[in-house]
Amino acid sequence: MIDTVSETSANRNFISDIIEKDIASHKNDGKVITRFPPEPNGFLHIGHAKSICLNFGIAETYHGQCHLRMDDTNPSAEEQTYIDSIIEAVHWLGFTQSPPRIFYASDYFEQFYQLAEQLILDGKAYVCDLSNDEIRTYRGTLTSPGVNSPYRDRSVETNLDLFRRMRLGEFKDGEKVLRAKINMASANINMRDPVIYRIKHCSHPRTKDKWCIYPMYDFAHCVSDAIEGITHSLCTLEFEDHRPLYDWFLDQFPQLPHPQQIEFARLSLSFTVTSKRKILELIQNNLVDGWDDPRLPTLMGIRRRGYTPSAIRNFCAMIGVTKQDSVIDFSRLEECVRDDLNETAPRRMCVLHPLKITLTNYTKAEEWLSAPNHPQKPELGERQLPFSKELYIEKEDFAENPPPGFFRLVPGGEVRLRYAYIIRCEEVIKDANGEVTELLCTVDPASKGGNAADGRKVKGTIHWVNAQHALNATVRLYDRLFNVANPGADKSVDFKTQLNPDSLTVEADAKVEPSLKEAAINTSFQLERLGYFVVDRTSQPSSMVLNRTAALRDTWKK
Ligand code: ATP
Ligand code: MG
Repeated sequence: MIDTVSETSANRNFISDIIEKDIASHKNDGKVITRFPPEPNGFLHIGHAKSICLNFGIAETYHGQCHLRMDDTNPSAEEQTYIDSIIEAVHWLGFTQSPPRIFYASDYFEQFYQLAEQLILDGKAYVCDLSNDEIRTYRGTLTSPGVNSPYRDRSVETNLDLFRRMRLGEFKDGEKVLRAKINMASANINMRDPVIYRIKHCSHPRTKDKWCIYPMYDFAHCVSDAIEGITHSLCTLEFEDHRPLYDWFLDQFPQLPHPQQIEFARLSLSFTVTSKRKILELIQNNLVDGWDDPRLPTLMGIRRRGYTPSAIRNFCAMIGVTKQDSVIDFSRLEECVRDDLNETAPRRMCVLHPLKITLTNYTKAEEWLSAPNHPQKPELGERQLPFSKELYIEKEDFAENPPPGFFRLVPGGEVRLRYAYIIRCEEVIKDANGEVTELLCTVDPASKGGNAADGRKVKGTIHWVNAQHALNATVRLYDRLFNVANPGADKSVDFKTQLNPDSLTVEADAKVEPSLKEAAINTSFQLERLGYFVVDRTSQPSSMVLNRTAALRDTWKK
């Protein structure tokens, strides 16, 4: 069963190689259990999507399991809102399990505590009264060894008594910590008696006021993995130096299984930031419009921008998994969303900058013309476009003094209106400032149909909407959030000064064809010639709001 899957898997990488060897040698009884362990202290971003796709993808490929585990061991920054939104985001990406299996590190608080007592009893942990700053000073540097804490040699009895009293709430925050007794001279600073427990008189979203001591990440993480029987613990490269500590803790607990930690390169995207802290800074300074601002790389943001789960999954598959840090070009994510929406998004018409056209020789009251929802997919059906004397075209599709190679409408020239007729510009009407306000045109009644279906050839085809039936729309066009490829890389510059001031353009006077009236929030369309768009959550039938997901072509390549 497994070999057929791996043959066809598009996601082969160094981690799948390790896993296949482990399966072949029957390690972990041939089982594969991974986990995605977010800390619920913010909303997920595209970097997390890489980890989600990797961990859940491996579980899918090898018929294993992936645990969504809230790493909720630091209550001061954690909130239920974040927990809910993380669960939602994982489901949205398409990784649903039934029944849903959600794990919480906080469910293991008692076990963490008991294991910490075991370390004390084994002489492998001690209660230390140094302050945070003192601990940092005593720790030494990369080039100088650390110094032993004066509390390092407390007896087992004293340590046990003090640790129990820490739990009972007898001490204030910061007064004492529990530390592992490893080696203050280790070349790896993480091994210099790391803190395992700290005092935090802080209510937890799930355990409320039951605890006033909370375990540190390095201790809680490996133990959670072991408790859950995780076989492969996949994390980003910055944890490579923590692996000896991961292994040290688990070596102290022979009663528990010992998962294998494997590191991979984190995803960085150009022209944006994928750090919760930096994203929060943008929000707090009102530089973007909340966590779901469509310019942000948060999953809420790119979803509101119209990115689809399959586009994100394809993107993660395309960039692959390696041990080399690299910055992926934002345009590769856009390519994936274009490829996806090109297949599925119905076509519609919208005019961003309306210019009025009056068809002087059009005599019918109105007629309705059929137009396919997708030019290559008849199965997607058709919609009807109202056509009458007054229409709007795009201002930019008319030029009084056309530059060479301009094939759209010019005085005396002809152009085809998409899915409708060929029109000729007979007269240009201007206001007192010389601005073109209206074009008087004639229509060729014999030219009705698709593009040159009647055999008449004109060079240009432009989009249009009916003036009377069109809906008003606000259309938001997005550009790169930052002006530099790697914001914040130059530490002497505040990354917030590197924002692109033109990252959002609002077209408030756009007109869209009436068939969009029924369009539900979050549905995607291709607006012909303008790009892919999604109906924003603030959209109303009487005043639509559309967000541009991506232009039709990469305008950044140049
Ligand atoms: P941030 O750096 O934005 O604060 P984080 O790493 O602190 O994110 P966690 O909630 O701890 O956020 O991350 C959960 C999981 O997602 C971890 O396993 C982490 O390694 C992984 N992850 C986070 N950012 C990325 C990224 N850019 N690329 C790949 N994986 C990531
Ligand atoms: Mg983290």
